[in-house]
Amino acid sequence: VLIPLTSSVILLLASCLLLLLDIIRVRMFFRGDYMRAVITGAAGFLGSHLCHKLIKEGISVIGIDNFLTGNTENINDLPGEFFSFIKYDVTNYIHIPGKVDFVIHFASPASPIDYIKLPIQTLKVGSLGTHKALGLATAKKAVFMLASSSEVYGDPKMHPQNESYWGNVNTIGIRGVYDEAKRFSEAMTMAYHRVHKIPVRIARIFNTYGPSMRIDDGRVVPNFITQALNNEDITVFGDGTQTRSLCYVDDLIDGLYKFLLSDYNGPVNIGNSDEISILELAELIKKITKSKSKIVFKNLPEDDPKVRKPDISLAKELLKWEPKIKLEDGLKRTIPYFESRSKIQDIRN
Ligand code: UDP
Repeated sequence: VLIPLTSSVILLLASCLLLLLDIIRVRMFFRGDYMRAVITGAAGFLGSHLCHKLIKEGISVIGIDNFLTGNTENINDLPGEFFSFIKYDVTNYIHIPGKVDFVIHFASPASPIDYIKLPIQTLKVGSLGTHKALGLATAKKAVFMLASSSEVYGDPKMHPQNESYWGNVNTIGIRGVYDEAKRFSEAMTMAYHRVHKIPVRIARIFNTYGPSMRIDDGRVVPNFITQALNNEDITVFGDGTQTRSLCYVDDLIDGLYKFLLSDYNGPVNIGNSDEISILELAELIKKITKSKSKIVFKNLPEDDPKVRKPDISLAKELLKWEPKIKLEDGLKRTIPYFESRSKIQDIRN
């Protein structure tokens, strides 16, 4: 009799505590002393995951996106009392009334096929968009976070890459539009930090995968999973010996959140340091999906980096963070999302 009674009392107390926390949250919101974040690229893969995370942590979010590569489905389920949305191109002046505590600039085409198709938009959002977002952060005395990229290291001559490496980028190559946009964004961010003294966080994000990626964004994980699920040829570019180090999205978002709340003004690599060749990745996805697909080899795109692996010592030391989810587990969490997306696409077609 005593044991069920004790567990009921514990359950009741826990429910009361949760209710109390909710009441405090809602009261804070109406009093206006809630923390507020502006996220550009809010409907994109990482932007939308960040919206969910910040709201879960009790921060209200104003999302901005022009849907060039973003998707409304990624933000449809966010709670209206803590999330508002503006459809807008952030290469223009950004006006947000009221206080803002964080400006998080994640807007940009991010997959190679997207930015090669949209080179001018990519350069504009990395230059003009970063300038406007930094202007907003300065006006609001907010913390600024930039989604930078492992692409600032280009086709690296240092392996693994740490934050002190300056990179090896072909400025006029087809990937240069993204790489140089991110390098310019970093330079502009540090200039604002030095001149206007705003706190800045430069997240150098390495390859990330997970639910909410666009099924047709052309990156290796969506491509291989979709091909494997449909028993189509799995297209390995080059001989597949090039390497990447893939981070599951929940780990990445956790690292970004810790970085946002830290007091470090500079670049930090955020990613998973488990390196795999692209051919091994194709074989792994084929095995997990029990696919009948054949692995075929296609031409390697221009300037495709031969290796990529983050040195995450700085993130470990500074943020007490490191990824927890192994590649195979992350893929098993991701595959059902692509299965459901393929079914929706089939119905639409
Ligand atoms: N890749 C591939 N087949 C595909 C898509 C990509 O072999 O269908 C390769 C691509 O050439 C690169 C790696 O996978 O070496 C990762 O490509 P992704 O587009 O995901 O991003 P990147 O790391 O190059 O920015």
